[in-house]
Amino acid sequence: MSVTIRNIKVICCAPEKINLVTVKVETSEPGLYGLGCATFAHRHLAVVTAIEKYLTPYLIGRDVSYIEDIWQSVTGMSYWRNGPVLNNAISGVDMALWDIKGKMAGMPLYELFGGKCREAVPCYTHAEGADVEETLERVGQLKEKGYRYIRAQTGGYGGSETIHMPPEGALPGDYYDPKVYMKKTIRLFERLREKFGWELELCHDVHERLQPADAVGFAKEMERFKLFFLEDALSPEQAGWFKQIRRHCTTPLAMGELFNNPNEWLNLIKEREIDYIRIHLSQIGGITPVKKVIALCDAFGIRTAWHGPVDLTPVGHAVNAHLDISSPNFGIQEWTDSESGFYCDKNPEALHEIFRGIPKVKDGYIYLNGKPGIGVDINEEAAKKYPCTEGGITWGWMLPRLADGTSVRP
Ligand code: MG
Repeated sequence: MSVTIRNIKVICCAPEKINLVTVKVETSEPGLYGLGCATFAHRHLAVVTAIEKYLTPYLIGRDVSYIEDIWQSVTGMSYWRNGPVLNNAISGVDMALWDIKGKMAGMPLYELFGGKCREAVPCYTHAEGADVEETLERVGQLKEKGYRYIRAQTGGYGGSETIHMPPEGALPGDYYDPKVYMKKTIRLFERLREKFGWELELCHDVHERLQPADAVGFAKEMERFKLFFLEDALSPEQAGWFKQIRRHCTTPLAMGELFNNPNEWLNLIKEREIDYIRIHLSQIGGITPVKKVIALCDAFGIRTAWHGPVDLTPVGHAVNAHLDISSPNFGIQEWTDSESGFYCDKNPEALHEIFRGIPKVKDGYIYLNGKPGIGVDINEEAAKKYPCTEGGITWGWMLPRLADGTSVRP
């Protein structure tokens, strides 16, 4: 007799003041359920509505083993598709169905994916400081903790500094000056190489703060620091400029956390214009579509570096790690260490009170717990103690403006 979907719950919580959305798919088999990540922190109520009002009525009674068919049908059933709200909603269900399949098989997900390609997952973490010296200090602390890959920046995305005063009546925002940002970042990497030599692998995230012509020049100037990768040098809308960067330098390029639609990555992969793909798994609809991206990238020599930010549930982080550990073309995994000096209000105690089985990090490696499925569980009562901010959160860095007040898309 087939196992079917009996009920779908959406569990929202914000243990670190960041809205997290977890989907729990309960089955006809007593005690058998799966969890998935559907976190779109800034529009979480839209995702909740999509799941409760549109996916659940269709999915109740469906056979849990039909993961691919369910993914295809719920993606097409809204006719208009490939947006962040619906993709996150679908991801929550998709990951939960994979979790159930793993539990039914008595295997961790990486076994279903073909088995381990390595014993643990190397990860990079972030070093952020108010100025160059503070960032260097953070890098030193993280190196001491065993990290060998570190992403560094000073003063937030774009450097948050201008040499010109904004005009009278300028609107609120995160003001920055691209020239100041580039100069300061180059100074930071000069100091990093002076202080730490060449044994650390270094990354930097431009966070789409540069105009295309500046991005080409900046990637070329950064070439001498031999980065592990330069991230998001261009916005998805300007991805056509990647070929210009390629013509001018050998700086490895990473891209993809804003991708929603296969047409955003197909050409970049086919033309080998990036080196690392950084998709945010729930943003493209979960495990089912991302497995196809992995196979495609493998064929073209492109490695994975899944987005692993603070606005991702531990379920999502564990799914990243299951894919990392079993992918031949894995590159690196992003991880936010509590000592990063990064923007979130880290509260690991609250996070651990809600989620059990969170992957552990030791000496720069992520370790999974080997339990069947995704291996992460949720305490629904504990989740209620840390409610979400209704209406989402507005983070300053998402409202960047140039010195004259022009709004820039982050
Ligand atoms: Mg990024």
